[in-house]
Order: sequence, then structure tokens, then C-alpha cells
Amino acid sequence: MLPFKLIYSDRYYLPIGDHVFPAEKYRRIRDRLLSTGVAEPGDFVEPEPATDQDILLVHTPGYVQKLKTGTLSSREEIEMEIPYSRELVEAFWLAAGGSILAARHALADRISISIGGGFHHAHRDYGEGFCMIHDVAVAIRRLQRDGKISTAMTVDCDVHQGNGTAAIFAGTRTQSAPLPSVSGSMLHPSRPPTMRGAHSGDLFTISLHQHNNYPLYKPPSSIDVDLPDGIGDTEYLAWLDNALSSGLRQFEPDLMCYIAGADPYREDQLGGLDLTIEGLKKRDELVFRVARARDIPVMVTYAGGYARDVEDTVTIHSNTVIAAKEVFQP
Ligand SMILES: [Zn+2]
Repeated sequence: MLPFKLIYSDRYYLPIGDHVFPAEKYRRIRDRLLSTGVAEPGDFVEPEPATDQDILLVHTPGYVQKLKTGTLSSREEIEMEIPYSRELVEAFWLAAGGSILAARHALADRISISIGGGFHHAHRDYGEGFCMIHDVAVAIRRLQRDGKISTAMTVDCDVHQGNGTAAIFAGTRTQSAPLPSVSGSMLHPSRPPTMRGAHSGDLFTISLHQHNNYPLYKPPSSIDVDLPDGIGDTEYLAWLDNALSSGLRQFEPDLMCYIAGADPYREDQLGGLDLTIEGLKKRDELVFRVARARDIPVMVTYAGGYARDVEDTVTIHSNTVIAAKEVFQP
């Protein structure tokens, strides 16, 4: 048995047809974890969908109404980049329920991983970039409402900036001091990682992403590390270490929400960084070691991953569970 729970449902599957987002990845990750003996059936917990009340902690009543009644405009549906259906709405409500459950189990066991979620491009009143509902924001607000946590830190390592996270928490985000430079960094001097500040509050948002990629407009996180094209494992890990250290010097979260996108991978169709599968596992280990050393519970969601070979995406996401197992074993 794993010393933590994996949150999963067959109904995480997104009914979006033939799409660059491999909607079957969730089931394939579950199957891989079982077939390789990393996990046992008893390690998995099935979530319930979030309630409308939960969703409304983050999203506007008008948007929720449109989703529930199928009345998005065609422009809104195009912007979401996934085809609307009643079943798709149910899958996103379930993803949000899964993240709430993962956050609760993280508080109990120090870590929990939802084999889904991480829809970090969803905004309060519209969806974009394959994201309808911001499951992580819903989980944070629900646990705050229940009095389980006061503060949270998002650590977003998807290759695309967490624009939904930044926008949703704009009013309650903590401002960061500038990041110290990484010694020996070979980042292009004309485009160094930049820091942008915001307001003081109960959230601290960190995003490490490729600068020259979607979304075009990147609303400010507490720490944005705008990485240049093509950086590899060593530099990426140095900047992640730097951002985590800097963030945790300034802010003590009750919960860390790690968005473990697989798309910084060098073979990703929608990414332009050069990380290896081994480097991505080291990334996961770094986040987990830092959280464990400081006794901060971590909930993990999976976000994007568009490797040319979907098996690589499955490997990267499965390795996140292996990394957690190695770091959090008693
Ligand atoms: Zn992504």
C-alpha cells in the first residue's frame, strides 16, 4: 500500500473526441500504476462531483448557469477549445470534487494525488485552453470555507502559465520580493525570468512556464518565472528551487497545490522546453522534498501533457506517484 491516497474515477475521462488533449491518459496512468505494482486497488479513492455551491466559491453564477443550461455563446465555446457537452460539464464538476478530496487527504496523509485536474486556465467567468472549471481554486476555497486551511500556495510547473490561477486570486495574492539570480545561469540575458508583484493575502501563486507560449497575456502571479525556449533539466531545476525557496521564505502555506504538468517535456507537441523524463521526475522530487522538510501538506493535480507518444505522458505522470512514494515513505 502507498502511504497516501490516489484520487481517481473512470469518469475523469473528458468526452472531447479526437483532440490533442489525450483524455484517456487518466485511465492509462491508473492502469500503469497497477500493472507495474506501484499502486494497489486499495490505494485509489473515488471522488464525488463538487456541488454547485462549491463551484460558485470561484466561478460566477452567470457562467455556471450557462454551463448547466448549455447556453455558452459559440465564441465562448471556441475559446474553451473543447466541445461543450452535458457530459463534459459533469467531468469538470467531478475533477473539482477530486481536487477537494485530494486536498482533504493531503491534510491527513501529508500528500495526495488526483490522477486528473489541474485546469489552471479556467477563469471565474469563462473557460479557455481546454479548461472549463478551475478545480484547484475550487478546492482551496472549499477547504478555507470549511476552516481546514487559511492559506495556500500554488506551485504550477505546467509549461503554460497559470493565467486562470493568477486572475482568480488577483485580489488575495501575496506580493513577492524579487527572485535572487541563479548563479551560473545561462538564461538569455535579454529575456531573464521576471518577477511581478501583486497584493498581500491568503494565496501565494508560483508559475514556472515557457515565456514564449500560450497564454499570450499572462496576468501576474506572486512569482512568475518566464523561462526562455529550450532550457533543460539543470537550469529548470535551479529556477524551481530558487522560486520555492524564495516563496517559502515569504509565505507559510497551510497547503501546497502542486500542478504537475507533463508538458515541459522535450517531446511535447505544445511545449518548447527541453526537459527529459528523468528531469521531470527530479522536479517532482524537489517539490515533494521541500514540502516534506517544511511539513507542508501537498495536493497534486496533473494538468497538461501532449507528448508525441502518449506513453511518455503516462510515464511522466506515473513517475509523479513514484517520486511521492520515494519521498514520503515512512
Ligand atoms: Zn500546459
